[in-house]
Amino acid sequence: MADKEERLSVYIKNFSRLLREDTTTIEPYSKETERFYKFQELLADVFPHIVPLCEAEDFDGSMLLKWKGKPSGKKPALFMYHQDLIPVDPAQWSHAPFGAEVCDGKLWGRGTLDTKCGLFGVLQAADELTAEGFVPDRDIYFVSTRNEESSGFGADAISRALHERGIELDMTFDEGGFILYDPIGVADGTFAMVAVGEKVPLTVKFIARSPGGHAAMPKKNSPLARLAKMIAYIEDHDPFFSVISDTTAQMLRCFGPYMRRFGVVAKHPGLFAPVLKKVLPAVSSTAGALLKSTLAFTMSGASDASNAIPTEAWVIGNLRCAPHQGPEDCLAELKKICDRYGIEIECRVPKRGGNVADYKGEAFGLLKAAVMKAYPQVDDVVPYISNTASDSSAYSPYCRQCLGLNPFIISKEQMGTIHGIDENIDLDTIVPGVDCFRYLIESL
Ligand SMILES: [Zn+2]
Repeated sequence: MADKEERLSVYIKNFSRLLREDTTTIEPYSKETERFYKFQELLADVFPHIVPLCEAEDFDGSMLLKWKGKPSGKKPALFMYHQDLIPVDPAQWSHAPFGAEVCDGKLWGRGTLDTKCGLFGVLQAADELTAEGFVPDRDIYFVSTRNEESSGFGADAISRALHERGIELDMTFDEGGFILYDPIGVADGTFAMVAVGEKVPLTVKFIARSPGGHAAMPKKNSPLARLAKMIAYIEDHDPFFSVISDTTAQMLRCFGPYMRRFGVVAKHPGLFAPVLKKVLPAVSSTAGALLKSTLAFTMSGASDASNAIPTEAWVIGNLRCAPHQGPEDCLAELKKICDRYGIEIECRVPKRGGNVADYKGEAFGLLKAAVMKAYPQVDDVVPYISNTASDSSAYSPYCRQCLGLNPFIISKEQMGTIHGIDENIDLDTIVPGVDCFRYLIESL
């Protein structure tokens, strides 16, 4: 292999070609596929050894590639990194969002972190390995959808198709956490955060109805008053219970030796569960959300006229269900409360999420080994449940080991640029990031 400097200059060139393509999500249910097909043609040009070698299948603009492995009897593995991007306002950026500028030791552009880094990294690694004559020990799939940031239809369609064809995936790898210094504000160390499960997000509509009438003759308990009482009740009486899950316990054990305070408590999460349930929400809302399902009220609507009592008023709640209290259980708790106020609930529960990968399982072990080999400075590889859902959750009902990690070191500031302004990645992490994918693929 070429030396590090040479590799970096090739990688910047290849990665930049991906970044210069505007693959923005247009709208939630966009039918526009043209820019994504163009991007996929580019992939074949940037990665000429691996992409044309794979069997390709199109799912309405989302891409499935199959890299045939040796007949070893191992079940296939799948890598997924979406190609769509969150819209940008170039006026707010200090570097052109699709310019792929190199400046201050960083590469700038929309998608450098979310998540063309993953797509570039895995295809670059596979391309090099193929050119060196490597054949994987099992079939490996690469998926890149065009609607992860919106409808999620691509992941739903591909996961279902594989399932219906009887293809049982052994493990999947997706975006998810990054490698961060002190990820949740409690531990002085560098940790690779691997999502081993995702909360299931639901949009819940709460509806209160009435016969309506003129606002000059109001009666008590109008639809808005009932909704207000329900919201206030839920704010004061959290309907969801906290659990120090096996995953959270392991996360705390990893952080324990590096914690400034509560280190002893963290080393024995089972023993100190009651303390931790109190302490973690006080540390930050991020830490608190690790423990339970959450509900945030985000939208509302009522009468069209200021002098008319609404016949129907509604609020939308963004519900995120933790594995220990899933969609059915959460909705049952909410229904109990709503019944008291004469409020109806509408919610479509998608077939997503479900499995939490075992951090003692094979996939986690292989990923951990690859990270530690590529990044000697990493203190530990830490499992967690993600508060946000990605394409991974579409595979979770069918696969027990769905993991999420972008194996690149980023700072807290860079974390804040995801879906925001001036997204960028350090040049220093690009070579070890590709190495991590190489080690992982070689070990599968
Ligand atoms: Zn993403």
